[in-house]
Amino acid sequence: MNLYPWQEKAWAELKQANVKQHHASLFIGPLGSGLEKLANTFATSLICRNLTDTKKACGKCQDCQWILTEHPNLKVVNNEAEEGTSKNISIESIRNLKKFFELSSHIIGGNKVILINNTESLTLNAANALLKILEEPPENSYLILTADNISSLLPTIVSRCVIVPAPRPSREEAESFLKVEGFENLSSQLPLFNNLPLDVIAQRGNSDLFTIIINEFKKGKDFELMAIEPKWLTGHFTETICLLQKWLYEIFLFKMTTKFHFFESNKENIKKLSDAADITKLLNMLKSINKIKLISNKPINKDISFDNLMVEYRNVFK
Ligand SMILES: [Zn+2]
Repeated sequence: MNLYPWQEKAWAELKQANVKQHHASLFIGPLGSGLEKLANTFATSLICRNLTDTKKACGKCQDCQWILTEHPNLKVVNNEAEEGTSKNISIESIRNLKKFFELSSHIIGGNKVILINNTESLTLNAANALLKILEEPPENSYLILTADNISSLLPTIVSRCVIVPAPRPSREEAESFLKVEGFENLSSQLPLFNNLPLDVIAQRGNSDLFTIIINEFKKGKDFELMAIEPKWLTGHFTETICLLQKWLYEIFLFKMTTKFHFFESNKENIKKLSDAADITKLLNMLKSINKIKLISNKPINKDISFDNLMVEYRNVFK
């Protein structure tokens, strides 16, 4: 399995540090950094018994063949596979993991590995059940967790894990990755996606929509609530909120420093809006956006929340 170029150095350090000896590791970082690939590579390196020179799974042995479909010693948990609309990892899923660890692996031997992606989506009960497993891990068993943000996890879970920060690409690495993948034309969007080329590629289908939305944001105090289309919010709510947050932040940044970060291509508009913005209202609005962002993936009334935000947005400008 190939890692992303910016992950190779961290991988070498990871394998040198022998995190393998520890039964639980927590990979932390944004999804767009390739977090899950790094964690998955680590998980498979604990299963394959014929590792490559760089200590990755060989991809050829019987174990690696099984990994492609289902390996009896590897369990991967994704919250997306959970039933129900909340997409939280339930206590039942964690109880099943406990059973999996308890079952003997004597038939094929080797390590047992559990990989839980998006650990922040565990319900509180599930998190407490996971804690029990972390407290008494069976021999030759490894738990690998991934999360975007350490602060959203129970401190008691965090304290039982070795923390592995997922590296982010430099600007040069991000640009050259886009080039190799055939998306050189999207390089100018990197600042908008926190310099994460995987996010730029994943969101490329939305770039027309984002242009439409930005064109409306440009209107400042003349923004019309009527301009808000359902597709801004359905399926794209978090992205639209993030876009608004970056737009506002850019106006704020220009007001304070006359510098640009995300929207260099809209210099003139940012400058005009920045001149017209009331700094106190601007800061309050950034706080409001943050609040909505934190609950943006919960079942809230998106139309009302966004309308309220945009009314506040209009009032920021003189
Ligand atoms: Zn192998």
